[in-house]
Amino acid sequence: MNNRQLFLDHVAQTSPKPIGIEMASAEGVWLTDTNGKKYIDGIAGFSVCNIGHGNPAVIKAVQEQAAAYMHVIVYGEFIEQPQVAYAKLLTQYLPPALNCVYFTNSGAEATEGAMKLAKRITNRTKIIAANNSYHGSTQGALSVMGDEYFRNAFRPLLPDVYHYDYGSDELIEAIDSATACVIIETVQAESGVTAPSEKWMKALRAKCDQHCVLLILDEIQAGFGRTGTLWAFEQYDIVPDILLLGKALGGGMPLGAFIAYQRLMNTLTYAPVLGHITTFGGHPVSCAAGKAAFEELIAHTEWINNIPSKAAILKTRLQHPSIVSVNCFGLWMSVQFASPKMTQAVAHACVQNGLVTDWFLFAPDRIRIAPPLIITEEELHRLCDMVLKSIDEQKK
Ligand code: PLP
Repeated sequence: MNNRQLFLDHVAQTSPKPIGIEMASAEGVWLTDTNGKKYIDGIAGFSVCNIGHGNPAVIKAVQEQAAAYMHVIVYGEFIEQPQVAYAKLLTQYLPPALNCVYFTNSGAEATEGAMKLAKRITNRTKIIAANNSYHGSTQGALSVMGDEYFRNAFRPLLPDVYHYDYGSDELIEAIDSATACVIIETVQAESGVTAPSEKWMKALRAKCDQHCVLLILDEIQAGFGRTGTLWAFEQYDIVPDILLLGKALGGGMPLGAFIAYQRLMNTLTYAPVLGHITTFGGHPVSCAAGKAAFEELIAHTEWINNIPSKAAILKTRLQHPSIVSVNCFGLWMSVQFASPKMTQAVAHACVQNGLVTDWFLFAPDRIRIAPPLIITEEELHRLCDMVLKSIDEQKK
């Protein structure tokens, strides 16, 4: 029996149409399948592989840490050097109000921890979230996900959660002194890369301050340079109370984090003690990999600095009568077609033509372009050629 059938038979399936290619190796922006066919990774493993695949410094860090020790004890009991070093480094690149890192296993768990922290600090329960948001698939994270289709089958979920349109006045007006936190993505990913105005973000921050409400910004997809700055919130001249990181945080290994001011974070230490615990969160190998990847990202300043010129290539090249519109924020783009059917056909053709792409959870009429930041201009032109060829094939 071939591996595809074994995959379908024995690995739990959640997608009715998984891409289903079997990869043999990955290097830089290139993926190679078991038949030797090469693909450009046009979505960076869903914004995980921002510095590309197979970075030698990351591989070395993983090997060295795996040889030194892997799991030794649950989170927060021993001093694990990779955790300490990565937390110190990350906080050097964050504002002073974000000086304490809680490492988790995943983005969803970072969302869970952050919402618990907000409830613990404020002693309130009301949570405000945005329509079309995605913060993870666990039940707390699902409660704040902005789409009833995905929530409904799993009710009852968290009570006292209210959704409003991202960027709307209604969302800001709903914030009051019963609200524990507002949780939003700094740039909303799954609605097809939607960015709010700076005016709205500042008004949101001000209203949260007025009522002592914690502002949680989810940069699990937007962080680590994707938007053209290290953190997307820098472009809005605001600082969240809690920042959520994941995906690229682990340099290809599983890792998430919620980050806050230490005095706030310390409320998880008492009443009750062990306010948020995890066995594997902040795994030493994940932290070693993440730190090595982060060091690479900040050492190669050109990877982020060149994003505007690379985004310009995408915007200039990706013009076609079948393209209805594009959203672009940094090296992060959604390309809209007339219908979800057309989008799926183009995405499928892209894979056939050697470009891995996908659509968006709440924008099924858009394909996703978010390659590793290390992509060269020449590779970017090849990516555009493949998209345009895939669109043209739909007419035949
Ligand atoms: N938040 C955002 C914006 C995401 O895109 C994701 C994952 O896609 C998550 C949270 C959840 O992260 P994870 O899949 O690691 O639980």
